[in-house]
Amino acid sequence: MNTSVNQKIEALRDKLNLYNHKYYVLNNPVVSDFEYDKEMEELMALEAAHPECFDPTSPSVRVGSDLNREFKQVPHLYPMLSLGNTYSEEEIKDFCNRIDKAVSRSVNYVCELKFDGTAISLTYENGILTKAVTRGDGQVGDDVTENVKTIKSIPLRLRGDYPQQFEIRGEIYIPHKGFEQLNKERTDIGEEPFANPRNAAAGSLKLQNSSMVARRPLECFLYQLLGDELPADTHSENLEKACSWGLRISPNMKFCESFDKIIDFVKEWDTKRKTLPFDVDGVVIKVDSLPMRDELGYTAKSPRWAIAYKYKAEEAYTRLLSVDFQVGRTGAVTPVANLEPVQLAGTTVKRASLHNADIIATLDLHYNDLVAVEKGGEIIPKITAVDVLQRPADSRRVEFIKECPECGAPLKRTEGEAAHYCPNETECPPQIKGKIEHFIGRKAMNIDGLGSETVTLLYDNGLLHNVADLYKLTVKQLLPLERLGEKSAQNIVSGIEISKTVPFARVLFALGIRFVGETVAKQLAEAMKSIENIEKATFDQLTDVDEIGDKIAGSILNYFKDEKNIEIINRLKAAGIQFEKEQSVSASDRLKGVSIVVSGVFSRSRDEIKALVEAHGGKNVSSISAKTDYVLAGENMGPAKLEKARKLGIKIISEEEFINMTGD
Ligand code: NAD
Repeated sequence: MNTSVNQKIEALRDKLNLYNHKYYVLNNPVVSDFEYDKEMEELMALEAAHPECFDPTSPSVRVGSDLNREFKQVPHLYPMLSLGNTYSEEEIKDFCNRIDKAVSRSVNYVCELKFDGTAISLTYENGILTKAVTRGDGQVGDDVTENVKTIKSIPLRLRGDYPQQFEIRGEIYIPHKGFEQLNKERTDIGEEPFANPRNAAAGSLKLQNSSMVARRPLECFLYQLLGDELPADTHSENLEKACSWGLRISPNMKFCESFDKIIDFVKEWDTKRKTLPFDVDGVVIKVDSLPMRDELGYTAKSPRWAIAYKYKAEEAYTRLLSVDFQVGRTGAVTPVANLEPVQLAGTTVKRASLHNADIIATLDLHYNDLVAVEKGGEIIPKITAVDVLQRPADSRRVEFIKECPECGAPLKRTEGEAAHYCPNETECPPQIKGKIEHFIGRKAMNIDGLGSETVTLLYDNGLLHNVADLYKLTVKQLLPLERLGEKSAQNIVSGIEISKTVPFARVLFALGIRFVGETVAKQLAEAMKSIENIEKATFDQLTDVDEIGDKIAGSILNYFKDEKNIEIINRLKAAGIQFEKEQSVSASDRLKGVSIVVSGVFSRSRDEIKALVEAHGGKNVSSISAKTDYVLAGENMGPAKLEKARKLGIKIISEEEFINMTGD
């Protein structure tokens, strides 16, 4: 055996196994899909030329595995494989020729969009969703049923003439808008952003707490029906049926009876996909007839009756001029590449995100390197490759900085985390300003009249150094500042005054404790009731609270260890900020066993009314039936609902009557 070839094959296998682990298990890819597919192609070509090097565990013959020990693993009834893929029209032609030859009769193809998410297999028994399993290693997958049940586009119960038991497969994904919002929320509380929507979807599905999954903007398209009693023997008719049972099937599928028609579809969607609100990374071409699929069969890794044509992400080559290191509110340092301007996907790209030190090291980036920049969907461009052959002889390697570019403090990196942090929370200017901006934000203290420009103005003029300083500001101090007239100065001061009524949970979120987002702040306020209790809480008491794990608990303990934070809290307390959970509604048994439908508009919010129902032992139900005891009718209640209540003889009560019933 040729040892150099053998070494090359082993090196490629090791590299691809590592990429697989980062991609499927950690949801944090280190190379682009194109780069991965190129190396896989090279490995497959070498293995084909050297059959003596065959290894059944090679990544070329196995499906990349997403198995995670924290879930129960269940076997797939039908193996859940990958798809053969190509970036070339020529290979689609070869695929069609192979099929023509194998079946020697006319073939109908169905072209579908290739959704860029994570594969799921759903089992329905008697019309009820009973199991949801990830692809895993193709033979067994992780049981993520409870998490999948939170996805609204997946029905828990079907309608119509469905088979008694069947499996349906599809792709769970996150649309662009939800992805941007999710990443904003993550970086806002000091979490690492997800690299792309696919990784965000796959990562979300593997969360341990399904109420957290429920808040992830996951959606699903289904694309393959399996079972012993399918309604038809073509794929397209089966999907049409599945649609009639309430399952979400993509409307963008097309019959293509020839290679030319397939190419038309591929070209049409290369443009149209850019207008979709989610990522589509290619087109899947499938034989429609199920008996024909049986004839064609499978390789160890993929079906022979389908192929994925993948769109190459738009890419351009340009020079790396310099790297800026930006410090965010939480102290996280993000490297950003400054590039020689280049046209890409209709825009001029001058900057690209480098995310963290690992990405810079993996790329082995040097100043003046000729780099490949890629842009996919709505996402900011990123550097995906370096053309080392074009590297100028004297170019220096890009080193991650050791000190904060804003305040000079030595940077820190916690083990297991990719980001570097500036630990100088209370003295580093972007962290000070960022914390104040977070504090005054709409979801936090919601201080009207103050924006990021005014915060900078006040900081630069020495009037604001931390959030407690806000409560010392006077109109007199503000008036001499440029751009601030009498009216805006008044607005700022009264906005600050009003913020003293903001409830405790939002105050807790406003403090900007790392990893404490809106939901965690709510849970914490509910469980601990006051800031004193949180300050005194032990690690175990904190992790006993719903949704608080080791990482968040550690961060809360660290926050309260810092004298400077305690001082700020004491000053905020003295200013009259709410540091205790407001008394919840008085509880009683007055509505015990009573079911109430709340409908229409009230003087209180609907959530408040529903909370009152529960606090007094009642049950909120969403639709009127003979079992409903009362309909609490507000303004603008739908006439059909009113009519139904009247017909069933259900008592209709007003808000006032309801409040009397509770005794509040
Ligand atoms: P794939 O993503 O190329 O194709 C198969 C998958 O497509 C199916 O499992 C299914 O989930 C999905 N799909 C979407 N729409 C579909 C439709 N309409 N019909 C059928 N299937 C549909 O294959 P894979 O095995 O999931 O992943 C392999 C690919 O992932 C590689 O080719 C590579 O591009 C990428 N990858 C990248 C890295 C990296 O580090 N960048 C690492 C591993 C894998």
